[in-house]
Amino acid sequence: MSQYVKGLRCRECGAESEIAAVHVCETCFGPLEVEYDYAAIKQVFTRELIESRPRNIWRYRELLPITGEPKIGLYSGYTPLVRADRLAAALGVDELYVKDDSVNHPTFSYKDRVVSVAISKAIELGFDTVSCASTGNLANSVSAHAARAGLNCYIFIPDNLEQGKVIGSTIYGPRAVAINGNYDDVNRLCTEIADKYGWAFVNINFRPYYTEGAKTYGFEIAEQLGWKLPQHVVVPTAGGTILPKVAKAFSELTDLGLVTGHAKIHSAQAAGCAPVITAMHKHTDLITPVKPNTIAKSIAIGNPADGYYVLKAVRESGGWGESVTDQEIVDGIKLLART
Ligand SMILES: *Cc1c(COP(=O)(O)O)cnc(C)c1O
Ligand SMILES: [Zn+2]
Repeated sequence: MSQYVKGLRCRECGAESEIAAVHVCETCFGPLEVEYDYAAIKQVFTRELIESRPRNIWRYRELLPITGEPKIGLYSGYTPLVRADRLAAALGVDELYVKDDSVNHPTFSYKDRVVSVAISKAIELGFDTVSCASTGNLANSVSAHAARAGLNCYIFIPDNLEQGKVIGSTIYGPRAVAINGNYDDVNRLCTEIADKYGWAFVNINFRPYYTEGAKTYGFEIAEQLGWKLPQHVVVPTAGGTILPKVAKAFSELTDLGLVTGHAKIHSAQAAGCAPVITAMHKHTDLITPVKPNTIAKSIAIGNPADGYYVLKAVRESGGWGESVTDQEIVDGIKLLART
C-alpha cells in the first residue's frame, strides 16, 4: 500500500515533508495534508475492487494514509444511508437521505472513522501512547480503540462534560484528565503538550492522518447512492474536519472517474456556537472565535481548527450554511423521530 502515499504537503505554501507525527508546515505553519500518487491509484482502484471488500472504512484503503494492513477499525464505517421519505415529504423535497453514524462501531459516532485511521498510523509509526482533546465523542472513540490495540491512553476533557459521555470513555480504562475550562481551553493545553511527551494526539500531531479518515463519509455516500454524487449535502461543522474532507472525497472520486454529478455542500452550526456561519454570512475569510453556549455539546467548538477550509469548500461547491437555535435543534430531533 505504501506506494500510494507520497508524503505530506503544506496546504498553504506547498512545501513537502516526510510522513511523521507532524501537522504544521516548518516554513509557514500552514496545515499539512497527505499526498497520494493518484496516477498509480487509478490503475487499481475500481468500483469492482471496492465492492468486493468487507463493509468497513478500509474498502477505500488506497485513498487512506496507511502502509500495509490496517491495524484497527475493521468494523468502523459503512453505516446506513437511510432513505427518509416521510421526512422528505414534511420538508417538501423529493428525495432525502440521512447518513446514520450513530450506529458506527464501536462508539456510535463518526469519530470511529477518524480515530481508526489515526491510531492505525500511530501503531505503524511506533507510538505506544495515544491521546486527544475532546468534547466527548472523540475521547470515547480514542479510549475504545486504545483498549482494543493495547495502547496507553490519555484523554483530556472539559470538567463540565455530561456524565454519560465521561463513563463512555472511562469504562475503557484511559487516564482521564478533566480541565477546568471549555473545549477550546482543553485543545490549547493539548497543543502545548503534544510534542513534549511523545504521544500520538489523534487530533493534533496526527491530524493529517486523522482528518483523512473523514473522507470515508463521502466515499460511502457516493457508493451508497450508486456511485452518483447527491445534489446537496448538509454537514455539521464543529472543528471543521468533516466538511472539507467530504468535499475532498467527492473530488477524488470524480478525478478517478468513479462517480458522476456535482454536490453543493452546506454547513450547519448551532446558533450558540456559529463562528463559521457568521463568517460565511459576512462574506469574509476571517473567523472570529466565540464562547459556545448550546445544548449541541458535540459540535460546541468556538475556535475551529479547520474553519477556514470549511468556508473554502462550501464556496467552491456553490453551497451555503445556516445556524439553528437550540429550540430548532430540539424541534428537528422530534421531527426526525416522528417521521
Ligand atoms: C465531532 C462531531 C461533529 C463535528 O465534526 P468536525 O469534524 O469537528 O467539524 C459533528 N457531529 C458529531 C456527533 C461529532 O461527534
Ligand atoms: Zn507551508
